[in-house]
Amino acid sequence: MDGGISRLYEVKEKVGSGSFGTVWKAIDRRTRQVIALKRVAGVLRNARSAQKIYREVEFVKIFSKHPNIVSLLDVHVAANSLDVYLALEFMDSDLRKFIRGGQLRREYIPAVMAQLLQGMQFVHSGNIIHRDLKPANILINRNHQARISDFGLARSITSEYTGNDPVLTQYCGTTWYLAPEALLGSKWYTVSADMWSLGLILGEMLTGKPIFTGDSQMGVMESILSSVSCPAPRDLVRLFPRHAQWIHSFRPGQLRPLKRILQRQPQEAADLVIRLLHINPNERPTADQALRHPCVASYRKRWPMFDRDVKLRVPDTALLQCGEYRDLIRRIENKMESMKRVSHVKI
Ligand code: ADP
Repeated sequence: MDGGISRLYEVKEKVGSGSFGTVWKAIDRRTRQVIALKRVAGVLRNARSAQKIYREVEFVKIFSKHPNIVSLLDVHVAANSLDVYLALEFMDSDLRKFIRGGQLRREYIPAVMAQLLQGMQFVHSGNIIHRDLKPANILINRNHQARISDFGLARSITSEYTGNDPVLTQYCGTTWYLAPEALLGSKWYTVSADMWSLGLILGEMLTGKPIFTGDSQMGVMESILSSVSCPAPRDLVRLFPRHAQWIHSFRPGQLRPLKRILQRQPQEAADLVIRLLHINPNERPTADQALRHPCVASYRKRWPMFDRDVKLRVPDTALLQCGEYRDLIRRIENKMESMKRVSHVKI
């Protein structure tokens, strides 16, 4: 642990790790607040990972305002100029562990789903796609309060997806929650890709198991095609020109219709999963539409939305040098620090 960071935080036990960072429970020595300290080691060593952490910091800072998005409290560039630390609001667990540990209470599933839809409605209103929604990236407290986290792959929808995105090609997490258009590199990649992931998260909360699995992107696609009906051939060609023929001729070894997977689940919740899991992205409901579904409608709360595109200081398409990303993150660090000082000044 960096000496400067140890002076600011008393680090307790490790609470998680992902493909990018390690997270500890910690106490902020200045405020005695319990926080989550995420260290992303060596991230400023190459431009691609520096870009990812810069985006994560910027997006999470912008979206933190919403009650269903994790709050960023501080950011620090380590003295070695290579590691970045994020101080985040501390949460008891993540949804993956919560489901596996049997802590998710069935009667709370619609309320958790409504919180996720509300968080994503907010993100989508700024025309941003999260692109990495999965149970491990949903943080949850014992009282079933949920927060969306990990915006490292988030992207502005205004920068058109080319099907040749290096971030997604280097994707090192599980591909089980990616929408068909992401798995197949289609250019029809928009906010509805997140709606697919939310459908899978709801399905997993209900059944206790991931809905689609596979060891490769095509393996996951085969699992999808064994359960979900295919779009009409004309739509298939338009959506997935390079793979339409393969999809059309694919014959699953074993059919596992989604209705059968969900047959023991409450009808309204199962219906919402089925509506979200359409291969054709245009047929999936938006977050706003899904929040009107009878499964979640009674939990809906009003929250102001963005009325403009959320834009980062550096456009998505630009790839800067590592040192430039480091300076941008340091600037955010100083700004957050000075805002705190202002709010602590006694009048
Ligand atoms: P990565 O960017 O490497 O994927 P994540 O941000 O997803 O890392 O964090 C990895 C794990 O750490 C999460 O799945 C979760 O279990 C835990 N974690 C992350 N943020 C928090 C937090 N704010 N509070 C508590 N645990 C957290």
